Amino acid sequence: MAYRCAQCKRRVEFDIRKIGMKCPYCGSKVFFAERPTIAKRIKAR
Ligand SMILES: [Zn+2]
Repeated sequence: MAYRCAQCKRRVEFDIRKIGMKCPYCGSKVFFAERPTIAKRIKAR
């Protein structure tokens, strides 16, 4: 799972269930969940 740090804006990847959420760069604990940059378009019929 990928996240973006709210403080240093770095992209970090980790398993939150294992090590908890803490930025390895700045120590921040605030993150935004980053979604894959796949533009999915679903056609409604
Ligand atoms: Zn950070």
